Amino acid sequence: MQRRDFIKITAATGAVAALEGCGNPDHQLIRFIPEEELLPGIAAWKPSICTLCPAGCGTLVRVMQGEAEVVRNGQLGLLKMGLAKKIEGNPAHPISQGKLCPRGHAALQVTYHPDRIRTPLQRTGQRGAGQWKEITWDEAIKQLVGQLSPLLAAKQPGQLAVITSPLKGQRRTVVSNFAAAFKASPIEFEFFDNAAVKAANQQSFGVAALPTLDLAHSNYVISFGADFLGTWNAPVAQSIGYGEMRKGRPGQRGKFVQFESRVSQTGANADEWIACPPGAEGAVALSLAHVILSEKLRTAASAGAAGAVIEGWATGLPDFSPEKIEKQFGVHGELIRRLAREAAANSPAVALIGEPSTAQSNGFLSAVAVNALNALLGSVGKPGGISFAPSSAVKLVPVKAPAADWVKSSAGLKVVLLFGANPRFLTPAEWGIGDALVNTPFIASFSSFIDETSSLADLILPDHSPLESWLDDSPESGSTRTVVSVAPPVMAPLHNTRSMPDLLLDVAQRLGGEVAKALRWKTYDEALKASFGELYKKQGSKSAKDADEFWSKAQERGGWWSAEEKAVPAAAKGGGTLKYAEPKFDGSADFPFHFLPFPSQMFYDGSLAHLPWMQEAPDPLSSVMWGTWVEINNRTAEKLGVKMGDTVEVASQHGSLRAPALVTPAIAPDVIAMPIGQGHTNYTRYATGRGANPISILAPMKVEGTESLAWAATRVKVSRVGEGKIVMFGASMEELPSTTKHR
Ligand code: SF4
Repeated sequence: MQRRDFIKITAATGAVAALEGCGNPDHQLIRFIPEEELLPGIAAWKPSICTLCPAGCGTLVRVMQGEAEVVRNGQLGLLKMGLAKKIEGNPAHPISQGKLCPRGHAALQVTYHPDRIRTPLQRTGQRGAGQWKEITWDEAIKQLVGQLSPLLAAKQPGQLAVITSPLKGQRRTVVSNFAAAFKASPIEFEFFDNAAVKAANQQSFGVAALPTLDLAHSNYVISFGADFLGTWNAPVAQSIGYGEMRKGRPGQRGKFVQFESRVSQTGANADEWIACPPGAEGAVALSLAHVILSEKLRTAASAGAAGAVIEGWATGLPDFSPEKIEKQFGVHGELIRRLAREAAANSPAVALIGEPSTAQSNGFLSAVAVNALNALLGSVGKPGGISFAPSSAVKLVPVKAPAADWVKSSAGLKVVLLFGANPRFLTPAEWGIGDALVNTPFIASFSSFIDETSSLADLILPDHSPLESWLDDSPESGSTRTVVSVAPPVMAPLHNTRSMPDLLLDVAQRLGGEVAKALRWKTYDEALKASFGELYKKQGSKSAKDADEFWSKAQERGGWWSAEEKAVPAAAKGGGTLKYAEPKFDGSADFPFHFLPFPSQMFYDGSLAHLPWMQEAPDPLSSVMWGTWVEINNRTAEKLGVKMGDTVEVASQHGSLRAPALVTPAIAPDVIAMPIGQGHTNYTRYATGRGANPISILAPMKVEGTESLAWAATRVKVSRVGEGKIVMFGASMEELPSTTKHR
């Protein structure tokens, strides 16, 4: 009998006394024998990886002995164990460099969340009614295998859909290989997918990836809407680089210019913030290039293929003179001329574009235009410019691009597997994801929480939390080194959960046949060790005497990363030319305002709205907490008769929502903005029924040239509904009546 299997049943008076102290005298708990050696009062710092956004920051987790209520062998009891207490950035990790964003710190609350799913659940009521019964893992796995076996035998494409959040590391290999045995491909749902930037980088430089920014060595930065200090790309690495650019070089402070239609957290740091109408970013970038070319500050040929791909580049972009841009978009021509000259004179200068500018219908073309400007400024693959991280050293199975219209082919679906994705919250109602799921005969979710999508499941097989899991990642940007992060669990699981990849390996073996052959590992850490064996052969033989030492050193350090590498040289795709296109918007003159949803600093895409620390943290610009808001320019508000905190209705052709108004001069008069993240209808006690979801009223338009939602291309009308309330830090907090029930 293993030590962990041996339960010391003490039904102890001590335990009961302890629980009485916690106000829970009704149930007696057994006390389990500790599963690990721990030193009371001594903290251990264990490496891990932040999974709360795609940036892939390396972390260190402070683990100390504590006592927790846990489930072992189906039995609830008390266990002395190592408990994660605090998360910091891993100083040795090339992406985080010892720092984290606020979201990374709050990752601790995922593990200890009171509404985590603690054991497998089977639906008992109507689909979506929230009626479940607890079942054993044996029962749960039998049900899943029972549903999948006929599909494996039939080998008919289209019967299984595997819907995932962005897959990291070898999880992608495990999930993809599993799906492939059923002739299916994972469908990734990522709201902020940066598809336009990646497609543009493929077009301009031959690399379909996000760029790595070397801001620390830049002298001049022009950003088109990229919130690179808050939520875009690798914000921690970029914030560190930005700090170096501004203060790290005595006597030399780089200049930063931001074009956007609403002041973002990043824009608030700019030396010059310039109002730019939504969708005009690419035209302004080409106008800057026009000035540089026409004043012979650079030659057209110096931009190479990234410039040549733009129609009219060789002749100096005559259609993009500053005068024409001023007439068309209202951005002052003289300002464009001055900025173009400054950028050309202050090398290294770099131009960036990110969401929401690339979430317009012409976002891909705008990103191609900014790439050409970058190439013209000589900032590609050079210090102080952009480059691309070396391609991952670990073999990963490529995942099929997200298909916006997968619903159209869902008629023959028999089973859906959900891995952490919440497409019902993250897609416009008109995509019909909810209807497609409701009509699917069987849905199994591997989620840790009930959300809008997992609430439709027939079976829930709850995953461990990230701190309880083996993690790995190969970040796509943020460093010019090859980075392959890996981390063992920092603590034992609290509940009766199972690691998703381990469970899939188990299910594959029970199903047998091709799926068992495709997933030959017994456990996920075995798969990781095998991938590090490959990495050792390719890259790591200089840093360890053998593959075993390489593997154990990587676990101690939080991964393996190469020495500083030379930036990957740019290689354009070539081919024909692209003609710049004006943005298109959904909504006639009856809808006079551009609707600009934006990523929330605290909730990212809404997946973090269940964390009370994130609800409690004031938004850095508005200081709003525990709610949402609609940003309206003060002059517009005056015309509409709207005052701060009034409830307004925002209506598009696709729906309407209500939220309190935040009246501010930091937004263009014809733009209405709203953070994404709140408005959950079913996502734990902290997020449910709080605020409104701007995605729910978006038009189902796509960014041309990609499969992505053009989520900043909807037009709306706004009207005052009545008085309302906006909760802001230090401004409107009231003490709750003592009778209020705690959520
Ligand atoms: S940027 Fe923040 S949320 Fe994203 S991985 Fe890093 S710490 Fe986590």
